[in-house]
Amino acid sequence: MICPYCGCDDGRVIDSRASENGSAIRRRRQCNDCGRRFTTYERIEEGAKLMVVKHDGRREAFDIAKIRKALDMACGKRPVADSAKQHLVEVVEEAIHREFDREVDTTYIGRLVANNLRDLDEIAYIRFASEYEEFKSVGDILETVRQLSERVRDAKDQQKLFDEKDGAAGRPHPGPV
Ligand SMILES: [Zn+2]
Repeated sequence: MICPYCGCDDGRVIDSRASENGSAIRRRRQCNDCGRRFTTYERIEEGAKLMVVKHDGRREAFDIAKIRKALDMACGKRPVADSAKQHLVEVVEEAIHREFDREVDTTYIGRLVANNLRDLDEIAYIRFASEYEEFKSVGDILETVRQLSERVRDAKDQQKLFDEKDGAAGRPHPGPV
């Protein structure tokens, strides 16, 4: 919130309380720059929309179609079923609306999509994550690929263990007949 006295936007909330019979929140704020205090009121906006805060601080209305577009780009010609993509988008949308009602950081959305995409298609995951600046260098990408390989190996080991157990259980018990 920009200070009305000096225009600095570095301030803090020193008191919050319900106001106007609970339909608004009154906040006392103090500017960290000039030290002066001022009051703001927060009310529910008619048709309030969830806003996405981008890397550069700009805000835009949350638009699920953009996530779908980014997902399509990342998947490209990868064999990811349309229904799987649609499901991922729905899971992400639901999670975001459950967690946030005013603003959500673009980084959060990116991570959420990336985490869901990892189990769907690894190549698409790498593409998506690199678009969303999760990777700062080629080293980061290599590290992620290494982690993915470990996940695959762990999954295979678990499957092997499961198969062995299954096999053992399937054998007739060598007890007295
Ligand atoms: Zn100030």
